[in-house]
Amino acid sequence: MSASGAHKVVIIGSGPAGWTAAIYAARANLDPVVYVGVPKQDPGPVLPGGQLMLTTEVENYPGFPEGVRGPDMMDKFRAQAERFKTRIVDDDIVRCDFSTRPFTLHTGEGGAVRAHAVILATGAMANWIGLENEMRLARTGGGVSACAVCDGALPHFRDQALAIVGGGDTAMEEGTYLTKFAKTVHLIHRRDTLRASRIMQERFLSRPNVKPHWNKVVVDVLGEAMIEGVVLEDTVTKARSTLAVKGLFVAIGHTPATKFLAGSGVELTEKGYVMLRTRSSRTNIPGVFAAGDLADSEYRQAVTAAGMGCQAALDAERWLAAEGVH
Ligand code: NAP
Repeated sequence: MSASGAHKVVIIGSGPAGWTAAIYAARANLDPVVYVGVPKQDPGPVLPGGQLMLTTEVENYPGFPEGVRGPDMMDKFRAQAERFKTRIVDDDIVRCDFSTRPFTLHTGEGGAVRAHAVILATGAMANWIGLENEMRLARTGGGVSACAVCDGALPHFRDQALAIVGGGDTAMEEGTYLTKFAKTVHLIHRRDTLRASRIMQERFLSRPNVKPHWNKVVVDVLGEAMIEGVVLEDTVTKARSTLAVKGLFVAIGHTPATKFLAGSGVELTEKGYVMLRTRSSRTNIPGVFAAGDLADSEYRQAVTAAGMGCQAALDAERWLAAEGVH
């Protein structure tokens, strides 16, 4: 804490971006404070640690040749930040006042905390269909996932019939990825035309093991410990049918966790992502930085989020030094 009673840097969010920012900031003697957030349903599960808390096995993060469970990886990130004396607060930041310095951040428990620099790292939430059995099996690693690139290559999906829901570029890209492992990839889309770019549609639909189901929505997910199928409803005729699948991948978009920035003056994109200055973590407000999925609708990987967390801590450190905050 500086002489003015404000923290040098407060980090909001506890996924790969937030923890990496904390590790770098702590090692630079900035005494970072991380607001990790509290668990909630929104409508799917939102946990401190972020989307990796809902990921069973991470096989594409360098340094873990055998793979690592998402929650275990977040425990390691947190432990590494704690090792360098990061202060951790189990609360949300619900509102930010960036109009005067030091900044004032309002907490979920009704308190306020002041900071010279702030790193926004609250991530994004995958959109879910919102079905009870979908959420249950997603939470327990029962074969329901919102990230085919993270989970699609796991052994229990290999040579199986899988379903992907959505009609955008993500569904095409992730569906194409699944065709490499799956016996059949069933595309389930609520309309009879796709929103995705033509080239990505063609790349996916031209694979021999893709079977599209037009005008269909998933209304239930079957299976106890592991998914065994989905119940589809035709959006035109309302007829219901059952499709046997061993995996369900939901690719119906993401929502950045930026609600708490309403009225703060931080510039957002049309879709609600934090807008960054080119090749940096700087937002439009000096002293406010952002890292990870809340500012990235494109890559959305743990390793890219961690890299952005590192950039944000380095940018914050340089900015604080230039401002004379020690
Ligand atoms: P998106 O473009 O918003 O598409 C979401 C899809 O999910 C739409 O087809 C939508 O159906 C469907 N959907 C939404 N809510 C649904 C619900 N409740 N039930 C069933 N279906 C639902 O999202 P995205 O595909 O994640 O793409 C996000 C952005 O990233 C886009 O700008 C995209 O171009 C970009 N992106 C680019 C690449 C690339 O170029 N390599 C790869 C991935 C993403 P409707 O079509 O009926 O609305």
